[in-house]
Amino acid sequence: MALSNDWFTEICTESGSAFSLKVKEKLHQEETPFQRIEIYETNHFGTLMVIDGFIMLSDFDNFFYHEMMSHPALFTHPNPEQVVIIGGGDCGTLREVLKHKEVKRAIQVDIDERVTRLSEQFFPELCEANSDPRAELLFADGIQWVKDAAPGSIDIIIVDSTDPVGPAKGLFSAAFYRDCFRALGDDGIVVHQSESPLIHQELIRDMRNAMHSAGFTQQLTINFPQPVYPSGWWSATLAGKKEILTTFREQASRNKPFVTRYYNHDIHLAAMALPEFWRERD
Ligand code: SAM
Repeated sequence: MALSNDWFTEICTESGSAFSLKVKEKLHQEETPFQRIEIYETNHFGTLMVIDGFIMLSDFDNFFYHEMMSHPALFTHPNPEQVVIIGGGDCGTLREVLKHKEVKRAIQVDIDERVTRLSEQFFPELCEANSDPRAELLFADGIQWVKDAAPGSIDIIIVDSTDPVGPAKGLFSAAFYRDCFRALGDDGIVVHQSESPLIHQELIRDMRNAMHSAGFTQQLTINFPQPVYPSGWWSATLAGKKEILTTFREQASRNKPFVTRYYNHDIHLAAMALPEFWRERD
């Protein structure tokens, strides 16, 4: 991370590239027991949250990520009633999940309560569903929480984590996915943010292999734009116990009774299309 001449810059060492945003001011900075959190006011992307030097979200473009982390999985599961979000402390994914009326309970388990408290302060629109009676906010290590979850008790686990460093490292392991497999019901789906389809191909391959070795028969990597993340192109990988992940509740998706800014039925189909170089990868 570098801040010079009013620009915030995130350097991506793997690709020898950098992404910069012009900032007006730094609004907040603190070291929590888990990570360093910074909040900036940018000139054109609204408020920006950065953890350990890596951009988490901006006002301007977080809808791509939050909608694609939630709606494809929720429209793929036949009846998503029990949803758990691991990480996701900014509450943007929680807000999208709660748009689905089938959801009876959505538990968000983030290791760092400060992320949520700062999001309430600086990103209030992302937290507008936090008082929904179906929402439960827990502050604990998601790895241990899933290990302790009752077998077969969850329909969807969304892993809205930071990159695989620090407290999030174990979230990318086969051991964690095995615990997810056990905690999920028969139609259960886990979906994990899987970084850039261009820069992090090895990570995506390792994630899919780890999910497979944990017992999930199906994996599906979907892709979508995310301007503030390295390469501007991002992905999420779904794993299912038995559901064919390329088929989803198309009628329900077409007639969704809630507003989104990116996700719709056609985007869902398009996000599953495989570029040629992914076929070579598999
Ligand atoms: N979309 C973002 C990205 O990829 O840049 C991630 C957003 S969300 C803020 C990531 C959250 O994961 C952080 O709030 C962090 O505290 C949380 N986290 C990291 N490791 C965790 C763990 N082991 N258990 C629960 N939450 C964890």
